[in-house]
Amino acid sequence: MLGVGATDAALLGLLGLLVGSFLNVVIYRLPKMMELRWAAECAELQQAVNDQAPETASTAEPFNLMVPRSRCPHCGHQIRWFENVPVLSYAVLRGKCRSCSASISLRYPIAEAVCAALFAWCGWHWGLTWEGLAWCGFSAAVLALAWIDWDTTLLPDDITLPLLWAGLCAAGLQLTATSLPDALWGAVAGYLSLWLVYWAFKLATGKEGMGYGDFKLFAAFGAWFGWQALIPVILMASVIGAVVGIGIKLMGNLREGGYVPFGPFLAIAGLTSMVFGPSAILAAIGL
Ligand SMILES: [Zn+2]
Repeated sequence: MLGVGATDAALLGLLGLLVGSFLNVVIYRLPKMMELRWAAECAELQQAVNDQAPETASTAEPFNLMVPRSRCPHCGHQIRWFENVPVLSYAVLRGKCRSCSASISLRYPIAEAVCAALFAWCGWHWGLTWEGLAWCGFSAAVLALAWIDWDTTLLPDDITLPLLWAGLCAAGLQLTATSLPDALWGAVAGYLSLWLVYWAFKLATGKEGMGYGDFKLFAAFGAWFGWQALIPVILMASVIGAVVGIGIKLMGNLREGGYVPFGPFLAIAGLTSMVFGPSAILAAIGL
């Protein structure tokens, strides 16, 4: 018979597969939604500058997380529910579109599997409790942010800010082991520390070493783990970021502008901190 931990892990793991499938939609569509929003704001400004009457109705098709239905980017074939079962459909379809046989990126099943693994771990560790569910929410948000930042070098406010507030609320409701003062000062110190690094780097080199999204994500980690975790998390993120950054440079794969986003490494450090605890990170680095 399965123990309680295993049952809860299996249940939350299944939930993680479904959430992972939704995250694929968020990862793909949220940056496009932001671009559309910016374009609309620019057009409005342009009209205001030219003193034209604003257009009454937008002619654009709605585009959000719910509509339109997902389609094959290759042939436009509308994806049916049975072709959209997390991980399983990818395996059954052998990674190919059912209509045109164009290959489907491995990133979709990978995101689903990683989300399921994180949720299962939360179920194993905290059980099917509010605390476990809170950390599932944390995992999903951080996974989506890491992936979006890697793709687009954006960390959307639509995710970082709710994650920060959720961390403070979770501490206030005693859903996390972090006390409310530790969470509050964690959020403040997380934001301020990277803000200072950003400006010091900018004044010294004239370049931007990271973006404002990184400050908000780090502030969110401060809220979830407390200020004590900030140094271990930033150390780990910097070490992995430096190793990966040098690796990419050596392979000559640096993208335009030579920019490697920092968010994914922060995210890896944050998720490691959730699983092993911030002190384990310090021990691994030898401090
Ligand atoms: Zn197709």
